[in-house]
Amino acid sequence: MDYFLTEEQLMIKDLARRIAEERIKPVRAELDEKEEFPWNIIQEMAKSDMFGIFIPEEFGGLGGGCMELALAVEELSRVCSGVAISFAASALGTFPILLFGSQEQKEKYLPKVASGQSLAAFALTEPDAGSDAAGIKTTAKPDGEEYVLNGTKQWITNGGEADIYSVIALTNPAKGMRGASAFIVEKGTPGFDFGKKEKKLGIRASATRELVFSDCRIPKSNIIAKEGMGFIVAMKTLDSSRPGIGAQAVGIAQGAMEEALAYSHQRVQFGQPISSFQAVQHLLADMATQIEAARALVYCVARFVDSGAKDISQETAMAKLFPSDVAMKVTIDAIQILGGYGYMRDYPVEKMMRDAKITQIYEGTNQIQRNVIALEMLKKRAKGK
Ligand SMILES: Cc1cc2nc3c(=O)[nH]c(=O)nc-3n(C[C@H](O)[C@H](O)[C@H](O)COP(=O)(O)OP(=O)(O)OC[C@H]3O[C@@H](n4cnc5c(N)ncnc54)[C@H](O)[C@@H]3O)c2cc1C
Repeated sequence: MDYFLTEEQLMIKDLARRIAEERIKPVRAELDEKEEFPWNIIQEMAKSDMFGIFIPEEFGGLGGGCMELALAVEELSRVCSGVAISFAASALGTFPILLFGSQEQKEKYLPKVASGQSLAAFALTEPDAGSDAAGIKTTAKPDGEEYVLNGTKQWITNGGEADIYSVIALTNPAKGMRGASAFIVEKGTPGFDFGKKEKKLGIRASATRELVFSDCRIPKSNIIAKEGMGFIVAMKTLDSSRPGIGAQAVGIAQGAMEEALAYSHQRVQFGQPISSFQAVQHLLADMATQIEAARALVYCVARFVDSGAKDISQETAMAKLFPSDVAMKVTIDAIQILGGYGYMRDYPVEKMMRDAKITQIYEGTNQIQRNVIALEMLKKRAKGK
């Protein structure tokens, strides 16, 4: 399918594919097995300017947007979604600054992210507040020229590895989410520590850690936007990043389908390649159709986000929901085509299935995406749109 990508977009896609094929593929199984953060690869990506893809040129980036980011994430995820998400989570952690930061904050932090000198992370989730983000308990108490942070954030991607953290905390707990604000907290700030590194089902090359704030003092200038705007910052950030999760899912599914197609040619049973059996052909045909539909949706919504449209929650939720369900189905069917070999770690499809599962969970579970879509539909109907 021709998506009429620009020359620059094709270059980004080719670059990501080359890094994925040449640098990531040879080590992906080892990174997964050892649960090792891919610093060497991250540095290589940084040298190729990949971290600047979505950052404006005036801050040292390439000036692309959601679409360019989606293309890169898809290509990296086609080979290893654990590495891809370490890259994508840095964008997630940067979006609050990009969308709502002051000029000074942008000048201070965006060039570091664009050059790959610093990774970023986004910290909303807490032990008792996942889908119900309004239930967060971390506080940021104003004290003179500083805020004092106390609380724990859980399951933060790039936790411990990133230097820059966008953290949502309550400045006015009595107001609930209306009393939430967003902050930039730098690694190394006294009172900011990391808890245990999680052992996960999939995306095992990525780091997922707890962030612990104990009387952590940050300057008042580190607030993003204004007091009370934290929930808006968080929701708009997720609106911008959800097509990236959709792209991750499309990439995983594409990788699994390619493995299944290749295997179906080689594997001979009953004297013929299994690709000659219609049952296998139909599985492949369904995979290809679903992946193309998911990709078309992701690209379309990514372009919609880049258009500057304001009301995007319904579409971005769809761009995460559908591809992630497709990735789960496609990876399970890919294992089916490989039969017992698909169940073994000698082939990459079992890893792809483990990696696919998270796309249905993080940045809002798929149940929450359905809630968002339905709510937006009902709101639009009430407004007569
Ligand atoms: C590997 C990993 C990386 C992550 N990275 C980050 C990160 O970088 N930053 C960050 O802030 N967070 C991160 N998260 C957290 C992630 O966003 C949450 O796990 C997710 O939002 C769901 O929250 P929960 O796990 O607490 O599930 P819960 O909210 O406890 O939900 C449990 C189940 O109940 C369902 N459910 C809950 N409420 C409703 C409802 N109203 N309607 C229908 N069903 C409902 C859910 O869909 C789910 O099936 C990460 C999580 C993981 C596992």
